[in-house]
Amino acid sequence: MSSGSSLSPAAGDARGPPDTVPDKVAVNDKKRKAATPVKTTVTKRVRKTATKEEVEIKNGASSAVSAEELTKPITAKTRGRKAKVEQMTVKEEEEIEKGEEKVVVKTKAKTTRKKKQETPIPPLAERTVGSALRIGAHVSAAGGIHNSITNLLHIGANAFALFLKSQRTWKNPDLDPQHAALFMDGCKEHNIAAAECCVPHGSYLVNLAHPDEERKKQAYDAFLDDLTRCHKTGIKYYNFHPGNSAATTREGGIKLIAEAINKAHKDPATGSVMPLLETMATLGNTIGGQFQDIADIIEHVEDKDRVGVCLDTCHVFAAGYDLRTPEAYEKTMTEFDDIIGLKYLKALHVNDSKAPVSSFRDLHARIGTGYLGLRSFHNLVNDKRLHGLPMVLETPIDKKDENGKKFEDKTVWAREIKMLEQLVDMDIECEQFKKWEAELFEEGVGERERIGEQVKKKAEKDTKPKKKRGKKVESEDEAEEDDDE
Ligand SMILES: [Zn+2]
Ligand SMILES: [Zn+2]
Repeated sequence: MSSGSSLSPAAGDARGPPDTVPDKVAVNDKKRKAATPVKTTVTKRVRKTATKEEVEIKNGASSAVSAEELTKPITAKTRGRKAKVEQMTVKEEEEIEKGEEKVVVKTKAKTTRKKKQETPIPPLAERTVGSALRIGAHVSAAGGIHNSITNLLHIGANAFALFLKSQRTWKNPDLDPQHAALFMDGCKEHNIAAAECCVPHGSYLVNLAHPDEERKKQAYDAFLDDLTRCHKTGIKYYNFHPGNSAATTREGGIKLIAEAINKAHKDPATGSVMPLLETMATLGNTIGGQFQDIADIIEHVEDKDRVGVCLDTCHVFAAGYDLRTPEAYEKTMTEFDDIIGLKYLKALHVNDSKAPVSSFRDLHARIGTGYLGLRSFHNLVNDKRLHGLPMVLETPIDKKDENGKKFEDKTVWAREIKMLEQLVDMDIECEQFKKWEAELFEEGVGERERIGEQVKKKAEKDTKPKKKRGKKVESEDEAEEDDDE
């Protein structure tokens, strides 16, 4: 990134999974067809932000090489059915900005039907060719899994995560064959090796460590359904939270998780899809907060060639594994290798942490703005053992506009991707590094202090003898809910 570029956008307070708000930029989203003036306004705002930032990101991408086949915008090609891709032209957007919204919306509906040629939304950043890293983000798949491709291209990602279906319900609707076809066509068209760079995220509801027969079946069915979706769409890895042993023992939970993996492995519908156990931030009943938990699950898996691990930098840090200095980083990775085995490491979630080390809080922060800090990520991306593994950002991108309305600022991811790529081989004594480090550290100061205070208060309370039971509940309500990504 050029020295003139700023990495310090106003810190947003919003959290939550990346997928909760439908992506207004999704080119193929059918919902766009019924765009109301309200929706158009949202699109305009997103685009407006993009245009402003676009130039900066592109200018900064000194190492980014534009390759036509990688950067050409996605166009919908369907099998059997006509795909309708709607695009708003720049001219139309300009008109909207002048306040002629109603007129433009009408015009838009007409032109779309007539015009077969699509005008694509230019990406915020182009995908870097030849980077040692394979880095991207957890993008939206609202409207169908194929839309994740559009969203990946938009931020210049070379890896991605997505939810294969709604992550907050138990429904397992059939995978839309048209969406699957569009997804695979999109991968092919843009040279995206889904088997190597796509790591879908499992549903938050699924707990494979539940011993109750009914609950167990429900969880397994959702898990199996996701694995079959991966198999059908050429995806190899599937990341999920190991589970929670609240209804059993740690040992019992670990056995149940391994049992579910073994069962899924034997089902031909899962092909050769590899489930990845995610490292978790919390302790207590959560399984996966310690490397030993993960190792013990793998121990019980019969086909060890078909199980792996996804390391989340925020989670391991919160769980007590430091990454901040080269020595601390090496110690953590050595521990990972000794306890689990580095050969099982197949993917990473790259997040900074709003909470301090050993706080056991799962609160993602933007890269360089949290307690991990930019140096942790310098350590990470310069570890050659990780080069080529899919790295997925789950950093918060929700911001508020001037009217206080929430929106997703995808330029955050576009910039983080380029910055992390450029950290490879970068001297931490150079001006650019120091500038980024200082700006990002400053950006995160408010959130670090706020969460740091919460953690401190809780620690003080935990050391005191428990007297005031009634008060305890009250003060815990003050603490915000952690991310469960
Ligand atoms: Zn998390
Ligand atoms: Zn997760």
